[in-house]
Amino acid sequence: MKFINLHAQQKRIKQRIDARIQKVLESGAYIMGPEVSELERSLEDFSGAKHCVSCANGTDALQLAIMTLGLEQGDAVFCPSFTFAATAEVVPFFNATVIFVDVDTESYNISADSLLDAIALAHRSGLRPKGLIVVDLFGLPADYDKLEAIAANEGLWVISDSAQAFGASYKGQRSGTFGDITTTSFFPAKPLGCYGDGGALFTNDDAMAEVIQSLRVHGKGDHKYENVRVGLNSRLDTIQAAILLEKMAIFEEEIGLRQEVAARYHARLGACNELSVPIVPDHSISVWAQYTIALDGNLNRQLIQSSMQEVSVPTAVYYAIPLHMQKAYRNDAINAGRLPVTEDLASRVLSLPMHPYLSEEDQDQVVEALIEAVG
Ligand SMILES: *Cc1c(COP(=O)(O)O)cnc(C)c1O
Repeated sequence: MKFINLHAQQKRIKQRIDARIQKVLESGAYIMGPEVSELERSLEDFSGAKHCVSCANGTDALQLAIMTLGLEQGDAVFCPSFTFAATAEVVPFFNATVIFVDVDTESYNISADSLLDAIALAHRSGLRPKGLIVVDLFGLPADYDKLEAIAANEGLWVISDSAQAFGASYKGQRSGTFGDITTTSFFPAKPLGCYGDGGALFTNDDAMAEVIQSLRVHGKGDHKYENVRVGLNSRLDTIQAAILLEKMAIFEEEIGLRQEVAARYHARLGACNELSVPIVPDHSISVWAQYTIALDGNLNRQLIQSSMQEVSVPTAVYYAIPLHMQKAYRNDAINAGRLPVTEDLASRVLSLPMHPYLSEEDQDQVVEALIEAVG
């Protein structure tokens, strides 16, 4: 059994993907070919965002967003510590300070109370609160109404790091429409992944979209060899756009299949006393990038993982070391000792195999192995 089975999906659409790739090879438009803008229009339609600009990966998407929104020395940016490294990584390059925020015990996303505490801490430390990077962890949108209200009150820009949640919704709105700019990643294992690196930004703001388009091609002006600002080289390859177009054709259906897999886990594990299953609020639809349970505090996670591996059930831990405890950040005194929920969750979470094509038999095997291991 595979933790994420990308081959099952490929088998389904291989002929169409092959034909698309062949077409790009024959056209020779390997950089910024017509498939790139075709994909961007398709992502706009799907998400409801006014503008989509593709780029080279999800980390660049965050960097392009920050370059667009502005950041400098003395500024503080708030983001969760319970996330992938890329979320916080770009901030130090602008000589700005990352202030990590604790997460909510149920959603694993930023807690509004902890954000308010972190903003107060920034003021006390002589830093200017400047931006908020919200993460939709494991595919579940954060509580944007609450978080955007706090950000508006403080004059913070908001980036929605939706690398794990493109396709998810919150109060009837899809990922891509939250914050000033939403970023996502097409890393192969994400819910919408290509066959290499890829990413995109979304915004409803015309001026920002124009700046992002310029920044991703060396700060170009009206044409390629006129540079009006310092930018990057961060384009999505035409071949990856072509692959994504075929994946978009089945994405809606796959989101539905992910709901079925999650519902089956919920039905079989929801009553188990030794663990808690993920809870999705009524107003949200998760895209289930991960199905992540939290084990009871007195269970030994490593033993559980190895006993499941013995019966060929793979599991993974996202994230065992939260960012504020990583070597890269652990000397930042401002982040020490403030994130009890993050530290507790990091020691107890366990992600189970999850993808749209997970069969009922395989799922039964996961559940049996888990119940046996915790029992
Ligand atoms: C994967 C991921 C990214 C970065 O995406 P890449 O395409 O790998 O650069 C950023 N943030 C989060 C939360 C992610 O999971």
